[in-house]
Amino acid sequence: AEERSLNFIEEIIEEDLKAGKYKSIATRFPPEPNGYLHIGHAKSICLNFGLALKYGGTTNLRFDDTNPVTEDTEYVESIKADVQWLGFQWANELYASDYFEQLYGFAVNLIKKGLAYVDDSTSEEIAKQKGTPTTPGTRNQYADRSVEENLRLFEEMRNGKYPDGQKVLRAKIDMASPNMHLRDPLMYRIRHARHHRTGDAWCIYPMYDFAHGQSDSIEHITHSICTLEFIPHRPLYNWMIEQLEIFPSHQYEFARLNLNYTVMSKRKLKQLVEEKHVTSWDDPRMPTISAFRRRGYTPESIRDFCERVGVAKRDNIIEYSLLEFCIREHLNKIAQRRMVVFDPLKVTITNFPEGEVEMLTSEDNPEDANAGHREVPFSRELYIEQEDFMENPPKKFFRLAPGGLVRLKSAYIIKCEEVIKDAEGKVTEVKCTYVPESKSGSDTSGLKVQGTLHWVSVAQAISVEVREYDRLFKVEDPSSEEGDFKDYINPDSLKVIGTAYAEPALKTARFEERYQFLRKGYFCLDKDTSEERMVFNRTVTLKDAWAK
Ligand code: ATP
Ligand code: MG
Ligand code: MG
Repeated sequence: AEERSLNFIEEIIEEDLKAGKYKSIATRFPPEPNGYLHIGHAKSICLNFGLALKYGGTTNLRFDDTNPVTEDTEYVESIKADVQWLGFQWANELYASDYFEQLYGFAVNLIKKGLAYVDDSTSEEIAKQKGTPTTPGTRNQYADRSVEENLRLFEEMRNGKYPDGQKVLRAKIDMASPNMHLRDPLMYRIRHARHHRTGDAWCIYPMYDFAHGQSDSIEHITHSICTLEFIPHRPLYNWMIEQLEIFPSHQYEFARLNLNYTVMSKRKLKQLVEEKHVTSWDDPRMPTISAFRRRGYTPESIRDFCERVGVAKRDNIIEYSLLEFCIREHLNKIAQRRMVVFDPLKVTITNFPEGEVEMLTSEDNPEDANAGHREVPFSRELYIEQEDFMENPPKKFFRLAPGGLVRLKSAYIIKCEEVIKDAEGKVTEVKCTYVPESKSGSDTSGLKVQGTLHWVSVAQAISVEVREYDRLFKVEDPSSEEGDFKDYINPDSLKVIGTAYAEPALKTARFEERYQFLRKGYFCLDKDTSEERMVFNRTVTLKDAWAK
């Protein structure tokens, strides 16, 4: 890894370790299993696991599953797969729901200390009594309930005596605090809903602010890292830990990762899936980790991206092109080079014998000394790209034109002798001759040509489907535009090339392998591949088409 200065969280950790505050550090990644993870979560994963690796500590994977209505085991499984794919291993797989009994006990402790009460107000009344940031709130008569009455009511809440919304448990802190989160915040609400793990065992569920810090404390998390919007929650996080006299975890906040031309919230991503703007959570246009994986991104490239983004204390929007830069860097090193013609123009080599096939050798990856070679068939009938031929070319057109010479990659120099057109005047074929002494690697022709084209031999080529992706949104920050974010979806984010012609080496393409289709971009095999049809995703173009 490149040398870089410490980020502010590393500075805090190094000071804590130096001061002997902790023997070793413990972090956690705490997803709520209510959707698939996105690239913002990848930042949090790399940060939490990365710190523990760097300082010899541990990281727990803790599912923050305190809201039974939105959570599902499908999400739990996808989250685990994503964390592992990114290259990290958790010390313990834990669930906030495993702490429900313990959390209930904490709540009882606070009631006994006179620091929590059962409130019968409606949520509207509670909201009204809270006041505004500039005016203090007011306490209602329920705050005066005795400890005994609160204990009894809270137990009855647990036992299912009351319907949803009839009662809540609140912490008794300060209705005049300038921090709204301290104005007697909710600790528990009633929800008669089945939980994906605890089933019907509970009908009261703890709020985030009563579950998160206590879960951190139960696990002896030393550095609990979250995003900036939790800064105003920190006094409450600390208040709970102090009043309960439990292990003092500390919360630290950093800026969430935002990426342009996309949205980064599970709620919005879920809408895109449910309303069929994309095919699935792992549709390669989505900013989810599973979509990047399917699209051909490597874990290395995403870790590299997260490292380059750094750890900021202020919100900002990162350019999508930085992510693309990272994946290009990695794929250039590892991708197998192959030739695929997307829009074929037939080339007949008139001086090459009919029916004969010559096997040529081509390197798999010029960037990798250990990469091997493959055989590529050359014959009388070839395909090149339509766009690589022009009948009346402008000056500096270094591709094929009447009377002109061009090199075919890893093969021969050819000369365009004749152009064949159909009744409408469209070029349907070009007849060429090849220069037998110009074979790549043993060229004695003395000819100098400017352009090198990719090509395939017609008889041996295999038909494949290619999917090219573009930005999912037309604007940099769809969430900040007027109206609905979905009004800004790019209608041309997917282009399907139903039949492209690939050199036969791609017959054995594997899902784990990465390919560079020469002059076309980086590609990988898609999971929609079947016995009948291979499907390739374009991971990224060779160059930044969006560069200004
Ligand atoms: P979303 O709003 O997208 O649903 P969330 O914060 O509600 O995100 P969680 O499942 O609660 O999702 O997040 C798990 C962890 O990932 C939290 O610690 C959260 O702070 C962190 N996280 C979520 N989004 C980002 C982001 N864009 N950048 C960095 N960290 C993030
Ligand atoms: Mg959350
Ligand atoms: Mg959320």
